[in-house]
Amino acid sequence: MSLDRDLETFAQLGTALWIAPERARPVVIETLGAVSLLELSEDRALERAAMLMLARAESRGNAEGTLTSLASGQFGNPFFKLAPSERFILVALHSGRWSYERVARVMNLDADAVERFAWKSRVRLGAAQGILPAGPKTLGTHCPEYDFERPWTQRFLDEEIPNGRERIFLQNHLMACSLCQNALNRCRDLYFRADKAIPKDLAQEDFVRELSRIRRRGLVFRRKSLVTFRDGLLAMLRQRDIQLWLALAAALLFYRYFR
Ligand SMILES: [Zn+2]
Repeated sequence: MSLDRDLETFAQLGTALWIAPERARPVVIETLGAVSLLELSEDRALERAAMLMLARAESRGNAEGTLTSLASGQFGNPFFKLAPSERFILVALHSGRWSYERVARVMNLDADAVERFAWKSRVRLGAAQGILPAGPKTLGTHCPEYDFERPWTQRFLDEEIPNGRERIFLQNHLMACSLCQNALNRCRDLYFRADKAIPKDLAQEDFVRELSRIRRRGLVFRRKSLVTFRDGLLAMLRQRDIQLWLALAAALLFYRYFR
């Protein structure tokens, strides 16, 4: 996952959680700045920041979110009728194209629970927009099992079915079976509407550049703080102007006490 794409997703997670861009902006900057001081790889730093931001949003409760969405004129957007964690997973999957594995790590869920929660959130968003994705009413003899809590159509569209026997079977089956094709099309419709409902306010090039600068500054600061106190002191004493100041201070002390 490229860093810019990750930062863009992170900015979007911020607006998804804080609703009003002017409220999201400082939280996004603050969280990223704090995490950048930790000794973590790019991927993990972003994950940790996302984790912190979600925990913070959840601790505010839904009532405050509702008030903010009213105040910012976003109340009409069905996306903001969802709970913070539901908005979070939708942005991670739709805008970030995160894998289930990554979502599981950040949200502290097992892979199975990620699928169920993702589906529940998508269905709730769909329902708020007036659509309900139905599975196939009947199944043919060769149809894959359709689990209403975590259907294969979702795994298929999230690209979580690896290249191999299962994927080849599904692709061949889809060409022959209209029942499954319809189920997949309804699921695709749900995705398309979710894509459109997710706010993109902070995912702007200049803001992503600003985040990238914050990230780099954190790295520089970290490198400096790794230098030990003794090394720092010796390095300081080697500097010509510091030597001069020390000599001057010694001269003044001598003048004051031994005159
Ligand atoms: Zn079928």
